[in-house]
Amino acid sequence: MKYAQSVVDLIGGTPLVKLNRVTEGISATVLVKLEYLNPGASIKDRIALKMIEEAEADGRLRPGGVVVEPTSGNTGVGLALVAQQKGYRSVFVTVPKVAQEKRDVLRAYGADVVVGPSGVSAESELSYYGISDQLAAEIAGGFKPDQFSNPAAPHSHYETTGPEIWEDTDGTVTHLVVGAGTGGTVTGTGRYLKEVSADRASGPVRVVVADPDGSVYSGGEGRPYFVEGVGEDIWVKNYDPSVPDEEHAITDAESFAMARRLATEEGLLVGGSSGTAVAAALKVAEGLGEDDVVVAVLPDSGRGYLGKIFNDQWMIDHGFGEVVSTSTGSELAV
Ligand code: PMP
Repeated sequence: MKYAQSVVDLIGGTPLVKLNRVTEGISATVLVKLEYLNPGASIKDRIALKMIEEAEADGRLRPGGVVVEPTSGNTGVGLALVAQQKGYRSVFVTVPKVAQEKRDVLRAYGADVVVGPSGVSAESELSYYGISDQLAAEIAGGFKPDQFSNPAAPHSHYETTGPEIWEDTDGTVTHLVVGAGTGGTVTGTGRYLKEVSADRASGPVRVVVADPDGSVYSGGEGRPYFVEGVGEDIWVKNYDPSVPDEEHAITDAESFAMARRLATEEGLLVGGSSGTAVAAALKVAEGLGEDDVVVAVLPDSGRGYLGKIFNDQWMIDHGFGEVVSTSTGSELAV
């Protein structure tokens, strides 16, 4: 019989798939890693498992404990399912910008969700960081994994995401393209791939950050943007700026147009940050030859954004597309 002992054992081991249509005119091979195939439907299952396992191992999380985390949703889902399977309660703090569907998913796993106010500074007691600090301190057995500074987050990518990409490309990957929110993915995956390829004749893997235009990681001032999960308005601990070799600033319009193309042309229903990653990957790949292998990590599914990126009216209302006449009527041009 072939089965997993629990859903937690199905985290990681996600496949790579080649892009065939959006890459028209590009000689390099562009592969994407489908993180929505994790049980919680995002890359964050990986860090959730590692953060909880390390906290159990060193006693920060004990039987009867409660996991408390500020999260835009995906980390919450990962933590909710791992915590639940291991017998802990979970409480999440989010901001109003996060899609309603994401909060509903957390509640569906049995987690509690607190929505903080928008437009408060990161240092404020009322920021989602501040509220979660207070809850973690006040709730008995409270444990805040803190994905922004917990070294277990980059470790999980160093131990799983990086080796998976190296093995699945037989050591031929030349470029890694990833978004950065908490920075765990780029720091852990990028560091592993650079180390393992350091002595390769063709040179080390080049690490590229696909960043929302406005985010500090690509030189912005932290002004707001719509794409969720990536970019930051402050530098965070788990983002190691020595790992990336280059950063590309991608606009919301580019990210969303690419997310829609991935759905309609490649059969990949993925989120906005996946659009950001592929838009940057194609810019990188344009200058490359046929021996180059570009791997972009696609963090989550498009299911959480059906009311936004994949909703024509929402796109029009937010200035990301216009209705154009066609021979059969009209459609949204993005
Ligand atoms: N995309 C989405 C949709 C996310 O939720 C996250 C996590 N914040 C990321 C990308 C970025 O990953 P990381 O936090 O590892 O930098």
